[in-house]
Amino acid sequence: MKKILLYFLGFVFVVFLLPVIFTTSMEGQEVVANETSSDNKNNSTSSNDENNLDKQNEASSNNGESNNNQNTNDVEQIQNFDENYLKYQTIRLLHTETGEIEELPMDEYLYGVVAAEMPASYEVEALKAQAIVARTYTIYQAMNSVGKHPNADICDNYGCCQAWISKEERFASWKPEEAEANWQKIVDCVNATTGKIITYNGQPINAFFHSNSGGITETSINIWGGIDYPYLKSVETSGENGYTQYSSEVILSKEDLEKKMKEKYSDFEINFSDSNCIQILEYTSSKRVKTIKIGNKEIAGTEARTILGLKSTNFTFTFDGNQFKFSVIGNGHGVGMSQTGADSMAKSGSNYEEIIKHFYTDVEIK
Ligand SMILES: [Zn+2]
Repeated sequence: MKKILLYFLGFVFVVFLLPVIFTTSMEGQEVVANETSSDNKNNSTSSNDENNLDKQNEASSNNGESNNNQNTNDVEQIQNFDENYLKYQTIRLLHTETGEIEELPMDEYLYGVVAAEMPASYEVEALKAQAIVARTYTIYQAMNSVGKHPNADICDNYGCCQAWISKEERFASWKPEEAEANWQKIVDCVNATTGKIITYNGQPINAFFHSNSGGITETSINIWGGIDYPYLKSVETSGENGYTQYSSEVILSKEDLEKKMKEKYSDFEINFSDSNCIQILEYTSSKRVKTIKIGNKEIAGTEARTILGLKSTNFTFTFDGNQFKFSVIGNGHGVGMSQTGADSMAKSGSNYEEIIKHFYTDVEIK
């Protein structure tokens, strides 16, 4: 009888449990793979050098893919939200350069995030909105990025999670006479929002943000596919054209363009004498390039952005027979809160709650 029971248990293990274990470990690998290949995440107005914000305002796209991969875990984990939220009041921060993991109280960690992500010169209500967005992103990440950083909740690399900078480092890039006041402004803004996060249906949202939406944000599905988050819808914002992140240009010679495409596609071919050698095929509803044909390759706007080094997928181009000029509007993937849009709204009198509820649809702050 015992033997029969043992055979039965063995059968159950092989038929049911092994596939589950295998699938789970494969998912973990996928997330890690995406992480290493990702160029950027949320960040946008990262401000290691506030005088040269554009430097850090790179594109992102792959990061969203890794987040999407993690969503298979959402339902199960999110049910324990209240419990987990309390659990994440101490953040295990991975310093990517040294590999060291530092434990920090949540708000102390957020001082470093806000200091790295948004210029201290921005309006108080924009900084408060950024603090809440960063806290929400941190908790979402800690709850959902299983296996991404073993033994850590989040890392300090803006290309992977979100930027973080130490007080000492931050002070070094500020004018000495302004440093103390700048830091205190950030500390006050974070402290004023203690414990507040953004929720949708009672659960923390995946709080993407970026530098400049160019006047209209993008839905997440148009950038990364996967889950169509109901709170990440396209919304219009005024005042973003007053910021340097609003427009940029990239000029590429025929040779440069061909080289960049061939780095990605070894079989790339293009006939520059054909007036349609580059053709935008489809736009998203927010007028960003969704699909583009470059030579013999039909690729997504997000991929073209990465390959060509453009600040966003909202672009047009001209070709004079020798070089291409790409004129780009906005900076970043365009999903979620626009930081310059937040600052612009704050300047017009909006508070952090109005800013957050403008950029994230049907959410609550609790
Ligand atoms: Zn990370």
